[in-house]
Amino acid sequence: MGKIAILPDILCNQIAAGEVVERPAAVVKELLENSIDAGSSKISVSLIQGGRKEIRVVDNGCGMHPDDALMATERHATSKIASVEDLASVMTLGFRGEALPSIASVSRFELVTREASAVGGTRIRIEGGVLRDVCEAGCPPGTQVLVRDLFHNTPARQKFMRTAETELAYITDQFFRISLAHPEIHFQLSSQERLLHDFPKAQDTAQRAAQVFGRDLLSSFVRIEFEKDETEVSGYLCLPQVQRTNSQSLFLYVNGRPVWDRLLQRTVLAAYEALIPRGKYPVAAVFIRLSPAAVDVNVHPAKREIRFKKPGEVMRVLREALLGTLSGARPTAQVRPAAPDFFPREASSFAQAGFLRENQASFDFAPRRPAAAPVFGGGENVRAFPRVPPDQSSETIGFPPPEASPEITFASLPVIGQLANSFLLLEAPDGLVIIDQHAAHERVLFNRLLARTGASAAQLLTRPELVHLMPGEAALVKRWLPDLREMGFELEHFGGTDFSVHAVPAPLSEVPPAELIRDLLKFAEEDAPTGRSGLAASLAKVASCRGAVKAGMKLKPEEIRHLLEMLDDTSLPFTCPHGRPLWFKLSYDQILRSFKRT
Ligand code: ADP
Ligand code: MG
Repeated sequence: MGKIAILPDILCNQIAAGEVVERPAAVVKELLENSIDAGSSKISVSLIQGGRKEIRVVDNGCGMHPDDALMATERHATSKIASVEDLASVMTLGFRGEALPSIASVSRFELVTREASAVGGTRIRIEGGVLRDVCEAGCPPGTQVLVRDLFHNTPARQKFMRTAETELAYITDQFFRISLAHPEIHFQLSSQERLLHDFPKAQDTAQRAAQVFGRDLLSSFVRIEFEKDETEVSGYLCLPQVQRTNSQSLFLYVNGRPVWDRLLQRTVLAAYEALIPRGKYPVAAVFIRLSPAAVDVNVHPAKREIRFKKPGEVMRVLREALLGTLSGARPTAQVRPAAPDFFPREASSFAQAGFLRENQASFDFAPRRPAAAPVFGGGENVRAFPRVPPDQSSETIGFPPPEASPEITFASLPVIGQLANSFLLLEAPDGLVIIDQHAAHERVLFNRLLARTGASAAQLLTRPELVHLMPGEAALVKRWLPDLREMGFELEHFGGTDFSVHAVPAPLSEVPPAELIRDLLKFAEEDAPTGRSGLAASLAKVASCRGAVKAGMKLKPEEIRHLLEMLDDTSLPFTCPHGRPLWFKLSYDQILRSFKRT
């Protein structure tokens, strides 16, 4: 008698379930994907105990014929592909035909489904993989899947489930990621019979992003739109002021599928280098589209991971798209009705309302870099400006068109003054802008140092300056020479451990050269990067910090103006090179709230 036997189906399904259904969130993901593939326009998810007790997904999609409904719960039964060639061009989210049988093998499962043209529907009950009941059922067109007591028959798996709260968090994450990719579908998520998230059909991804990320973030979003080498990159990036402590707000998609790909993630994070601090994460939703033949989606049972045929090329296009988008992003302002409404309607002695309007009219609204014009206005009561004057119609529009959030230039804003000789106060149409003068100048210098204009950015010293170093320091400086030269330094080894400095980067010409070199060396002691790639940026960070105006320095009005103009000419005027914000806005909303006026 041989020892080898073919495993029974139930066991196969339970084994498959181990990969496909690792936790309630995976069930929700599979069911949502099926409902989307079925062409639904509305999908609701309801949970009891974070899905541990019950998951119910109801859709209004195409439904199933009674024969298909039975088939669907069989292993490897799918309507989505029929041949190995299909696998290379699969456009549906599912194709493995594993989800329903796997889920049914580890739960008390019920499927109720009806095609729109059919008179009645079908109800199928399966418990732990065993078919219990098939009958006709009255139901609306579409499909409802009920998954109760997940893992009731696989105690080992059950132990791995976490608290209802944690499982709900995992599910919500999945729900967000999937909803964001399908603005055309109305999604609902309820828990314990309470509606937690309701995302009605949205006009576009922008509107859906507002539902998912919350409206406060909207004014910080910039649209990505890029195509090259048959790879399309689209979506939204948050300006670097918005920072998170984990990567959960990084939504990455390939051909409409949410993916967790290290390489993709690293590429996105790299685009934020020197914009946000190490250990902080941006908020972004990035969609990559390329020919289905250029990716293998069938490398992970739950399709979380994918494999690019040419990862290098995809990353190159992605990098270009992200850097182009970020470097074109400019600060924006919205015109809020709050301020004019707040000020007295009757002509006051200050005639504030008129005063405000005048100022608003003087803004430069022309998009400077149309390729990456910011798209969101933000807050709920944003009015299109300047088409609607602030004190006319009280009509509001929920989502302004892309042009409605005008870009502002810092230099065009009236300067109120300098606070504590450290912060510049400017008046924007929608509130008070506060700029950290040191951080702002640092960003200006950093960008100029890294502009790689080579010798053209070098300022020749009238007399070379000799710097005497310790042997270890001399060795370091020798190693740094190529990077220093690119920034505009000209150093010559003078003999022994002495160097003569012939030129310094023009933006740093005010700083005594020897001090500059010593500062760079001090940094080497503290946190020099290990790889060569980051060296130029790291040196530029130190040099720009050294060269920037300090906090506590009184600036003359023309110096303030000059700094603001330089900032306007700088790409990424959002954070300093260490990733700290260099400006923020205290909106009229916030101000009025502080005074309990709203
Ligand atoms: P796959 O999605 O990989 O094809 P599944 O096990 O998830 O495998 O589903 C099996 C089949 O059941 C699908 O191919 C589809 O034809 C059908 N199906 C599943 N869910 C639905 C639904 N919500 N509406 C209509 N048909 C569905
Ligand atoms: Mg499926």
